[in-house]
Amino acid sequence: MSCVFCRIARKQVSSAQVYEDEEVFAFEDINPQAPVHILVIPKKHIPSSLDIGQEDHALIGRLFQAANTIARDRGVSERGFRLVMNCNREAGQTVFHVHLHLLAGRPMHWPPG
Ligand code: 5GP
Ligand code: ZN
Repeated sequence: MSCVFCRIARKQVSSAQVYEDEEVFAFEDINPQAPVHILVIPKKHIPSSLDIGQEDHALIGRLFQAANTIARDRGVSERGFRLVMNCNREAGQTVFHVHLHLLAGRPMHWPPG
């Protein structure tokens, strides 16, 4: 099991956990790009968004619901927050286990860099 996010979800690698249910895990990004920067991941190993299958539709919905719950808990849902999923190298994906970045706490620029 070489995937660092699988290891984090199984608590074999420590992280600052912020959320967990049967299918979803969330933790603080180790290199935060905003005052709130949380990674929301499925416990199931899915390498990238290109690998999301028919059988994963409910799981991906749960990923977004978990992100919404966390945004409300952190008090940023009204101000606003950004959910980002990078896919493959040119988009900046460095960990090949699907994750939503939840970014908040400062104004977000558009278009992103
Ligand atoms: P990506 O670049 O793939 O979209 O995002 C990967 C994110 O995972 C980066 O923001 C990076 O800081 C974070 N990250 C990578 N390794 C670890 C780790 O071991 N622990 C935590 N908490 N975050 C990590
Ligand atoms: Zn994984």
